[in-house]
Formats: sequence, C-alpha cells, structure tokens
Amino acid sequence: MARIVMKFGGTSVANLERIYNVARHVKREVNAGHEVAVVVSAMSGKTNELVDWVQNMPKVTGASSPFYDAREYDAVVASGEQVTAGLLAIALQSMDINARSWQGWQIAIQTDNAHGAARIQEIDGSEIIRRMGEGQVAVIAGFQGIGPDNRIATLGRGGSDTSAVAIAAAVKADRCDIYTDVDGVYTTDPRVEPKARRLKKVAFEEMLEMASLGAKVLQVRSVELAMVHKVRTFVRSSFEDPDAPGMGDLLNPPGTLICDEDEIVEQEVVTGIAFAKDEAQVSLRRLADRPGVSAAIFGPLAESHINVDMIVQNISEDGTRTDMTFTVPSGDAAKALKVLEDNKDKIGYDVVQSESGLVKVSVIGIGMRSHAGVAATAFKALAEKGINIKAITTSEIKISILIDGPYAELAVRTLHSCYGLDKN
Ligand code: ADP
Ligand code: ASP
Ligand code: MG
Repeated sequence: MARIVMKFGGTSVANLERIYNVARHVKREVNAGHEVAVVVSAMSGKTNELVDWVQNMPKVTGASSPFYDAREYDAVVASGEQVTAGLLAIALQSMDINARSWQGWQIAIQTDNAHGAARIQEIDGSEIIRRMGEGQVAVIAGFQGIGPDNRIATLGRGGSDTSAVAIAAAVKADRCDIYTDVDGVYTTDPRVEPKARRLKKVAFEEMLEMASLGAKVLQVRSVELAMVHKVRTFVRSSFEDPDAPGMGDLLNPPGTLICDEDEIVEQEVVTGIAFAKDEAQVSLRRLADRPGVSAAIFGPLAESHINVDMIVQNISEDGTRTDMTFTVPSGDAAKALKVLEDNKDKIGYDVVQSESGLVKVSVIGIGMRSHAGVAATAFKALAEKGINIKAITTSEIKISILIDGPYAELAVRTLHSCYGLDKN
C-alpha cells in the first residue's frame, strides 16, 4: 500500500467525459489498495474566462484607479477549481468510491497575503490523512488557499501543480503524479518541435530552469517544493487508457520522474530547450557611468513589481557614458517606461528605446558545468539560419538568447537539433 497524490490539469478535466476518465485513473489506484488524494485544476479555458471577466468589468469614466481589488480577483478566479472538485467527487461516488471535495480553506491550505500570486505557508494534512485511513478519497481544488486576512488566495497561473506537490509533502505521500495532456517532460515543447523526445528522468535543477524559462508543463514553485521536500514527482498523461498495462506500476509508472541529479546515470550535456514569448527589451542610452546608476534604475522598477530579467550593460568607452539594456514581460513594458520617465532626472540618461514581441530561447543542461563550447554551438547554429541575437545571458547550467519573435519556432528547432536532442 502506498499514499499517492494525483493532480489533473485543465485539459484533463475539460468536459464531463474527461472527468469521468480521470475518475477511472483514480479508481485504478484505489482498487490497488492505495491511499489517494486528488488535486484538480479548473476545466480548460475556465480560468482565462474568469480572469477576462475581472479585467473587463466596465469602469466609470475618470475612476480613481485603473486596477481591481486583487482579493476579489481571487474570489472570482478560484471558483473554477471548486466546480471541477465537486464534479470529480460526484463521478467517483458514481463508481462507488467514497470521495468528497475540499476547497483550500477547508483543509486549510494557508498562504501569505500576496493575492493573485500567493505562496503556500502551511498545510494541515491531518484530517486528510485520517480520512484516507478510512478509505475516503479527498478531491482538492488546486490553485487556491486562504490568506492571513481570512480570504481566498490564488497561487499564480499554473498553481495547481504547486497545490499538488505541497499537499503531497503535507500528507507525506510516496508519490505525486502530475497528469497532463502530454505523457511526460520532453526535450522541448512537443507542440513546437514534433521531434522532441520524452525524458525518462529530469534533475530538479534542470526542471527548475526549464519551468522558469518558459516550459509551462510544471509551475516553477512546484519544482522548488518537490526539491526541498523530496517529493517523488512524476509527469504523465491522463489521456492514456487508465487500465492499460503498466499504468498502475508503483515504482516505475509511465512518464517522467523529476529527481535528484545523482539518480540520473547518463547525463547529457544539454537536456532541453525552453522558450518564453512576449518579452520586451528596454535600452537606456548614454547613461552616466557612475556608482548607484543601476540601483537608481532597478530600485523603482522593483518597487513597481516589474519583473526584470536579462540585464546587459556595456563597458563605457570613455568612462563617462554607457548603455544599459534589460528585458521585461511585454505586458509590463509600458509600466516600465513610465517608471523610467518618472525617474529620468535621478537616473540620468539621454533616451530610452524599447521593443516588444521578442522571444527568449534557452538551452539547459547540468552537463554544461563541465563542458566548454556549448554556447558557441548555439551561436553558430543560429547564425547559419540568419537569426540575429539581441542579448545573451548565461548561468552555470543555462544559456538564454533573446531574438525577434517571428524566429521563435525556427530557433527552438535549430537549437534542439544542433545538440542532437532529436536523435535517440
Ligand atoms: P495542465 O493544464 O495539465 O496543467 P499545461 O498546459 O499547464 O497543462 O502544461 C502542459 C503543456 O506544457 C503541454 O501541452 C506542452 O505544450 C507544454 N510544454 C512546454 N514545454 C514542455 C516540455 N519541455 N515538455 C512537455 N510539455 C511541455
Ligand atoms: N486553473 C489555473 C490556471 O489556469 C491553475 C492551474 O491550472 O494550474 O492557471
Ligand atoms: Mg499547468
């Protein structure tokens, strides 16, 4: 007997038929004698619709604030998961499985106060554990918890992955299975490069980079939690026949295991390619080259909650003036320009230029730590396709390259093949 947390994403619960199919996956594990808790997302498209409603509420002309109350945003967008949890509990009951639905506050999943992007602080798993012992399946609404203000808080887009891993840690589960619309983690998004290969195992550090650099298959925070709490996490498909051979394999279920680096015997130099669309580049020209300039730029941006990513500063030719370029999500570009304009005197620059619709493509692999020439290979391959590089940043295990938006797919496929990722 094992204790398993099973998470099902939006496309896996997109309609009643699929919810019924999800119930069959749960039934398989229950019938095998395991203790099971389930975490569900909203039905596919639902969260987008709810977010849209919040953002498009008409406003009185001249209203004092263009923004909405983030606590009410959470009250609205958390509702999608509540519906799925109830429906799945009903489907399970129809199969004579003892099941009940739970919302975040009922457990309780306690979060901080950052409405819209809250972090889980604590989960009391005792009642869930007690009921699992009695054979009851908990069907838990993902993506939500309750803040210190006693109000519903959501965990940021894709947050049901994080709910699942956090619950798995809280109930000391033997395994957390993230069921989605692909059958594992691939060398790149299989929807962009059909030659992408499924990985049997991915190291936590690599998965963290892949997720934070754009691979949305797992929310970044879920990978952090899996790493810290040593949760054995698999990414697998909900679309396979629940009763196909091997689906119930306890130690080696089909899919990708996210694990410690030491568990991976044959480590490739490059593991995967990730990409993030909709980046904007902002350049400050003829900036004073003196101590405190970076602080004067990035301090006010941080205070305005603008997430700055790549930062490139030129070495000044004459020791007085230089250029600085950085990237932000396209959606934040206008806000960033406003902040820079408001602080122009304090910063001291000549002009600011910006460009939206760019893409950041990243090459990721732990093996890079001990191999030279990985970056050069990428630059050469992109050059051969005539793709211009706008900015580059590197870390020990990744290289990120900023390019023009229309080249995204070509760049991903080019990088994927130049490291031989499409070959077995
Ligand atoms: P869910 O609704 O189940 O949470 P998501 O849409 O959030 O599913 O994540 C799954 C999607 O992630 C896949 O459909 C795939 O297009 C995308 N994806 C991006 N990069 C990768 C990758 N390296 N491996 C697998 N899937 C990826
Ligand atoms: N339904 C939420 C979203 O679409 C959470 C999730 O699916 O993980 O972001
Ligand atoms: Mg997701």
